[in-house]
Amino acid sequence: MPDVLPLARTNAEARLFVSLQPCPACGESRCTFRSAVVTVDGVLASRYSGDCPTCAQHREYEFRLPEKILPPPAESVRFGEDDPSELLDPGVWLWYSDIAVGQVPVDRTGLDDRALRAARHAVATAIAAVDEVSKFLPPGTDRIPSSAFTSADGRAVYAREPGRFTRARLDAVRASYQANLTRWNNS
Ligand SMILES: [Zn+2]
Repeated sequence: MPDVLPLARTNAEARLFVSLQPCPACGESRCTFRSAVVTVDGVLASRYSGDCPTCAQHREYEFRLPEKILPPPAESVRFGEDDPSELLDPGVWLWYSDIAVGQVPVDRTGLDDRALRAARHAVATAIAAVDEVSKFLPPGTDRIPSSAFTSADGRAVYAREPGRFTRARLDAVRASYQANLTRWNNS
């Protein structure tokens, strides 16, 4: 029996996941992937494939498609519905949220429409990534259990600042990003 493919809830989630995987042959992080819908053992799947720009290694990832395809929202970012990610753990999601918010300019003077759109998109991405972290909070608990951190990168983020993974902190971060987005939307 083949292993069950991991679920990618959205195209955005699959794209993010493959972008974070280094080339297994040489460690190069850049790669341009193209995607296609394929059938793997009778199951509809999405396949991301590309060739490493450094060592030409062919790279391929396959994901299970969700039962219901979630369309990308027009003005925001969404990586999935309420179920937690099967591809990335909460430590990686919080790290990615930090990366996204780090791309938001501090000062908006002199920015053209394109730059403003990019800034809004970066904040929306940060919010969506924080939401992904919060999906790992078990109902009725105030913090994410350490067992939820399943990757080396995610565990490192958790080990550095475990206090960031409480419900109160995550809610506060989300609220501040949401206020940030509202300011960008009004500019
Ligand atoms: Zn390579």
